[in-house]
Amino acid sequence: MRVVFLGPPGSGKGTQAGLLAERLGVPAISTGDILRAAVREKTPLGREAQAVMDRGELVSDDLIVSLIRERIARPDARKGFILDGFPRTIAQAEALDKMLSGNGDALSAVVNFSVPEHVLVDRMLGRASAEGRSDDRPDAIAERLRVYREKTEPLVDFYRQRDLLADVNGVGSVEEVGGRIDGALMSVRGAGEGS
Ligand code: ADP
Repeated sequence: MRVVFLGPPGSGKGTQAGLLAERLGVPAISTGDILRAAVREKTPLGREAQAVMDRGELVSDDLIVSLIRERIARPDARKGFILDGFPRTIAQAEALDKMLSGNGDALSAVVNFSVPEHVLVDRMLGRASAEGRSDDRPDAIAERLRVYREKTEPLVDFYRQRDLLADVNGVGSVEEVGGRIDGALMSVRGAGEGS
């Protein structure tokens, strides 16, 4: 299965992507995690991305698309993957479509997490004290939510029109939300076809 997780920052995509990846036996690919590792290791990519991430803005489409192209070409992603944090713009979604169709592949489903904004903010502020992410500060959180609404939310309609969208209520325990994801995936057209 080739699944995209779509949702605002703080909606629980990362946690659920890891768990679903285990259930399906495919890798969870998080662009945020890849970028944060590059920042820690001070690679050229990390140097370029750090300031942008700290402001809560988006890294350039070209950079992210080439990073994903390289990652999904690896052998462990042959039979599927969960994408967490990509695509985040229409241009990224179109690039992903092309990449997959070039190999005769297609997405199986897009899981769309909905969580009220006050819950998102509480979760990110809580994570700031627990994990110390440098973009979990109030100003960067506000900017990430604004960028989400402007650049990423249009993907909901983009994928709904393609009959790929599975809406999931992201409020509840980790187990509850995981159960909803499994149920939602079964209802999506492309997801039951074993590819
Ligand atoms: P969030 O908690 O906001 O969902 P992520 O860990 O997915 O955080 O991403 C952290 C930051 O990494 C983003 O705010 C952005 O700067 C950058 N980033 C991650 N994925 C992408 C992407 N697909 N396109 C552009 N920038 C990205």
